[in-house]
Amino acid sequence: MTHTSADDWTAATVVPGPGGGTLARFGPVVLLVGSDDPEVVRPYLEHAEMVAANGGQGRQLIRGFALMLSTTVEESPGFAAFAPHTTGLAVFVDGDVTVSVDDQEISGAASLAWVERLIPWPVGSVTATLPSASAPAGASSYRLDGGVVPAGSLLVPSGGSTPSASGPAEVVRPATQVRPPVPEPVAEAAPEPATPEPATPEPVAAAAPVAGRPLPPTPADEHVSFQSVLISEVDEDVDDFEPLPIVEDAAQVQEHQHQEQVRGVYCKNQHFNDPRVLFCGICGINMVQQTPVLVNGPRPPLGVIVLDDGSVFQLDTPYLLGRDPSGDERIGSGEFRPLPIIDQSNQVSRVHARLELRGWDVVLVDNNSTNGTYVHLPKTPDWVRMPPGTEQVLVQGTRVRIGHRTLAFNTHAGNVAG
Ligand SMILES: [Zn+2]
Repeated sequence: MTHTSADDWTAATVVPGPGGGTLARFGPVVLLVGSDDPEVVRPYLEHAEMVAANGGQGRQLIRGFALMLSTTVEESPGFAAFAPHTTGLAVFVDGDVTVSVDDQEISGAASLAWVERLIPWPVGSVTATLPSASAPAGASSYRLDGGVVPAGSLLVPSGGSTPSASGPAEVVRPATQVRPPVPEPVAEAAPEPATPEPATPEPVAAAAPVAGRPLPPTPADEHVSFQSVLISEVDEDVDDFEPLPIVEDAAQVQEHQHQEQVRGVYCKNQHFNDPRVLFCGICGINMVQQTPVLVNGPRPPLGVIVLDDGSVFQLDTPYLLGRDPSGDERIGSGEFRPLPIIDQSNQVSRVHARLELRGWDVVLVDNNSTNGTYVHLPKTPDWVRMPPGTEQVLVQGTRVRIGHRTLAFNTHAGNVAG
């Protein structure tokens, strides 16, 4: 017996093993964190819960954790997380945690960054183990159906949801179902230069494609080979994470209507910058020794908003954020672009908040939303609810929570003085 689908996975038995970490299970999402400090564990639990609230999509799990690790200052305590994807089990491992899926071992310790894998269905037994712990030997009388408990390891036995004295009986290798050999991981087959397909008109949300990055064609699911592959190899645009899309040249965005003029300075390489920055946001050259000459110029994009599902919105225009902002007259007039926040929690107002561009600043304004807009500034411990109707200037790495969704602000113009 093996787990052959997202539904199987959601119904699987999760057996906790002893140890000094934290194990959580929220529906299809399973998380093991190498700490028992509630403050340290909390952001990981929050993301896992949010993914579960949105239906438990492996892709969202991977992207959200990748985003979290690339924008957080604190060192990760090490963790492993699992959620189903349509074609397999998405696994995310960071730090000194060892995951094994059937015979494959995945350790975060061997990687400088995190490790992500998509293990194609069917998936047999799964374990995750903190360095000081050992995995449960087999299905025992303990099982976690939901919630958060202290643990040092976990076991998801192969064999569905009936705990059985596990043993060699379970070894029915799925490999014997002869599959047509598919030698190459999907990615190889994908990008042929001739195929930048006429981008299928997406819901307005995706109306901000990143300049200069044609999306490779979507690979078909059935191409997944039997070995595990990086989820980024089957997901068409997951690599938007790293490096973050950089607009290399202000000329690339010239076509966007009336570009607003701002006062700024040019670096030696003629990149237009915020006069407050110490280094050019485009080429990184030191601007301190240079005598600053303030001139008018077209404002380049002020960064990007990355949504927890991986979608990227370029800040070359102001946005209205909310459940259904597109009906707003400010969208119709072209003053704002819509950034829909799709969330099943019912906590998102129709127009919940807006992002304005003022000079070189990106300003988040709460639209007197019913359930509030939350902001987490880097190097601060907590999420803070914005008083209704107030505004907040976003700095690099600021995270914003609306309903159960999280957005992060990334700007290329780092190192703002003061
Ligand atoms: Zn420059």
